[in-house]
Amino acid sequence: MFAKKDYVIHTEEEIPRIRYAAQTTAYVRDQLKQLARAGMSTFELDQLAGKLIADTGGNSAFLGYRGFPGNVCISVNDEVVHGIGRPDRILDENDIVSIDIGVEIDGGIGDTAVTFPLKENIDKDTERLLKFTEKSLMTGITKAVKGNFIRDISAAVEKVAKKADLSVVREYVGHGCGIQLHEPPEVPNFVCSYRGPRLRPGMILAIEPMLNLGTYKVFTESDHWTVRTLDGRLSAHFEHMVLITDNEPEILTWAQ
Ligand code: MG
Repeated sequence: MFAKKDYVIHTEEEIPRIRYAAQTTAYVRDQLKQLARAGMSTFELDQLAGKLIADTGGNSAFLGYRGFPGNVCISVNDEVVHGIGRPDRILDENDIVSIDIGVEIDGGIGDTAVTFPLKENIDKDTERLLKFTEKSLMTGITKAVKGNFIRDISAAVEKVAKKADLSVVREYVGHGCGIQLHEPPEVPNFVCSYRGPRLRPGMILAIEPMLNLGTYKVFTESDHWTVRTLDGRLSAHFEHMVLITDNEPEILTWAQ
């Protein structure tokens, strides 16, 4: 589906629009994280997301994408990604909640995800999962510099995951992003035969490790969207959009 080129360089005209969309998306992400609480249904949370996105003047980049029915993806506990808000799924204080948000505004697209617990004191395994999934993302981002290859990011993410005894989901990967929700190249969270293109200023990558406490294996629910771990153990997902520059990477979805 991609054009011959396996990457996209965004222009000086596009980058400010994409930066604004990414910052808008980060704002909605952080609002939802604050507003999510036990007792709410995931459908309520999705409706809230729809309202917050509408209030920014943007649109959900996920709603209707390949037929996706939600405003955002809400994936609880052993759900890895692509969960759909449901009126009968009431959040419990023991849950961990992953919210993945895409916002399209003024011709730019933002994409970011976060996973968080609904209570303060969580067990050691859950804490390890959340802490090191985020750390794997942040470590991967340090390799998103001019001259490196995609695989340098993949290797850095995988190394943190392995050291923390977490498994890396292989069926879903990060991607270029900015004008389209999914642009080339793919950004795997593990080392494989794919080296990917050399990183160049103007490339924008959505880096998004999905790490599991147990097996890396996942399956898709009968709703054709919700992806869950095969063994029912917890999964976490963090995602930032990063602009490759002449110097340090710029995290476009950093909290404002
Ligand atoms: Mg993404």
